[in-house]
Parts: sequence; structure tokens; C-alpha cells
Amino acid sequence: MVISMNVLVINCGSSSLKYQLIDSETEAVLAKGLAERIGIEGSCLTHQPAGKDKVRIEAAMPDHNEAVRLVIEALTDQEHGVVSSLAEIGAVGHRVVHGGEKFTKAVLIDDEVKKDIEELSSLAPLHNPANLIGIDSCKANMPDTPMVAVFDTAFHQTMPKKAYMYALPYEYYEKYKVRRYGFHGTSHDFVSKHAAELVGKDRKDLKIIVCHLGNGASVSAVKNGECVDTSMGMTPLEGLIMGTRSGDIDPAIIEYICKKEGLTVEEVNAVLNKKSGVLGLSNHLSSDFRDLDEAAQGGNEYAKLALDTYCYRVAKYIGAYAMAMQGVDIIAFTAGCGENNYAVRAGVCEYLKYLGVVVNDEKLHIRGEDLIVSEPESSITVMIVPTNEELSIARQTMEVV
Ligand code: AMP
Repeated sequence: MVISMNVLVINCGSSSLKYQLIDSETEAVLAKGLAERIGIEGSCLTHQPAGKDKVRIEAAMPDHNEAVRLVIEALTDQEHGVVSSLAEIGAVGHRVVHGGEKFTKAVLIDDEVKKDIEELSSLAPLHNPANLIGIDSCKANMPDTPMVAVFDTAFHQTMPKKAYMYALPYEYYEKYKVRRYGFHGTSHDFVSKHAAELVGKDRKDLKIIVCHLGNGASVSAVKNGECVDTSMGMTPLEGLIMGTRSGDIDPAIIEYICKKEGLTVEEVNAVLNKKSGVLGLSNHLSSDFRDLDEAAQGGNEYAKLALDTYCYRVAKYIGAYAMAMQGVDIIAFTAGCGENNYAVRAGVCEYLKYLGVVVNDEKLHIRGEDLIVSEPESSITVMIVPTNEELSIARQTMEVV
């Protein structure tokens, strides 16, 4: 029997809460929204019911419990609501950032799971505690609704040990679980699956490289339906150059900058996370690729350097993963830049010519839709696949409940 229900997808940050209510049968988004500045002066909820005007609700949200209460109120409101009562929400899917080695797929949340998520907070101190607050707040407001945790790391748990181990003293792995985990798993899973559908093949028969190029960015190698490598590591700082994150650097730089600038390790860590990436490379011009594109076209050398270095790093990872999988059938671009940015896609594809890739430049200009951009004679199929992490979370939630 196929059960259909509405699934509420929750992505909870320390002071924000994003949500979507999805009809599991039609996969239509019934409503979506964002509660901002939770626990801070001036909090507000933006609620967008499908087919109706967006509403902005300015109300005090001293904590996440109140934010969830307001979200439910908006979803069931006579005027801008989309369901008549809470009973019409069959399940809640929560995005949880770190599932460590414990979680290889989505799970029904019980006290044990909550304890595990809490224990994993040392690996994701900015994210897991906020995700837990979201879970508790939903539980408080809808005690009888099943809740599912969907982990950003889960899809990458199939990586072989040679791909996830760091060359550090082995006891750091045993004692502290220092290893590579990878993130954006929900997106890499969704996009690789959909990429296979677009060429009418089973993911199990393909070698796919997914380039998730958003503000955070990562590449993954998906061989026969399983992730075999990905560019983010123990934390989302490793790998590609990102909006404000450095990606791969020589670890010795940290001590060197600490001494030169008189900074603590924590302060340099903050620089690597918040002031580096294309923002740092562009001499603090912007972390947004739209600004960088415009500046580069106007002749700004820093912006050009940031874009060149960014594309070069993506291309290097593609090269490495082609080797890791001993071949590539599909390269898929996704997320903000991957879906929309011509300069980045064209910059990366320029390097791919060496592998026999032939892309259609006109198609590379098209934004935000499922599209094969390579020519039939291309050695590898290159495509754009818009990601949809909320839909993927809703699907996984349905599978569990
Ligand atoms: P995300 O984190 O997935 O929302 O991606 C954010 C990044 O995508 C930002 O750097 C944006 O500049 C970039 N982006 C979004 N839309 C466009 C667009 N229309 N053209 C170029 N870049 C875009």
C-alpha cells in the first residue's frame, strides 16, 4: 500500500529555522518559510503558501519552541494556511549535519538517537546542537508526530577507508574519530540519482562526479550508486575553495599566521572559515559570485584571480576523482553556482577538454533547469541538475515512516 501524507521538513540553525511542507504523493511544496533572529531582538517569520502571497509575521520568538509554534500556526491559519489542522502533518524530517560513523541512513528519532546526535556535537559544534533544538521544539509542539533525522554525512559513509583516513597517528582516529566524513550528502545523493535518470540509466551502472558549488562547495565521486570519495573532510572546511572557506591549505600555515599576526588558533580558524575562500582571494571584495563576475568583467584583477583559482581547484578534484573511479560517465553541476553561473561552469569545462569533453557554450548559459550541456560526441556527459535537499529529506522521511 502506498501511503501519502504531508511531510514537514525542518532545517534548524542556531538562530533560524527553515521549513517546507511537502505533499509526499505529488511532491508539491505546499508552503515554505523561514523564521529568523530566534532569541534575538526583531525576530520575524516569512511564510510562503503555494499560490498565495508571501506573508511576513513580526512576532517575538524568544526560543525555537515559540518559532515552531508560529510555523504551525501559519501552516494551519485560516487565511494563509495550507492544512486545516496539525493532524494533516504526518511526519517531520529534520536535517542533521553530523551523523559520524554511527548513521549511514535516515532514522526514526527516539531518545537513543537524540543522545547519539548530542554526542556527535563535538564533531559539529555549530550545527548538531541547533539541529537538536529543532527536534525538541517540534516534539514539544507535536508530540504524536513521528520525527526522522536525515544526516548530511550519511551518504558518504560508503567511502573506503583509504579515502577517509588522514595520515595522522592512528590513535587519533580510534580515540577521537578524526577522519573524513564529507557533507552535503543529501544533495550528492539526490543529484547523482537524478543525473542517472536523465540519461535513462541505473545509477548502479554509472560513474558520476557531482560538483555541488554553492556558498559551501564539495565534489563527490559516486561509483555504482555509492559514494567512494568526497572533498569535504572531518569538517566542511576541507576541499574546494568556497565563498568564505579556504578549502585545502598546508596545515602549517595556521601556526605561522598565529605567530605573525598574534592570533590564537581559534581566531585563525575563524579566518579560514569566514574570511577566506573567494572573499579572501578577491581581497575582501565579495563572497558572492555575482559580484565577482561583474568585477572580473570590469577588469578587477583580484576578482579574476578568485574565479581562476576557484575553477582550477574544482577541475583538479574532477581529475582526481576520474582517477579514483577509473573513469567518469557523468559530471553534474549543482547548487547556486553550479546551477546558475556561466563563468564557473565554463571555466571548469575548459579544463575538461583534455578528457575529450565537448560542451555546447549556448547551453552553458542556461540557468537553473535539468539540462545536458555536453554534445553527443563528448566523452563524458556534462549536465546541470538543480539540487533539492528538502525534497530528498521528505522522501527519506517517508521511507523511514
Ligand atoms: P547556494 O549556497 O547554493 O545558495 O549558492 C550561492 C552562490 O550561488 C552565490 O555565490 C551566488 O553568487 C551564486 N549564484 C546564485 N545565483 C546566481 C546567478 N544567477 N548567477 C551567478 N551566480 C549565482
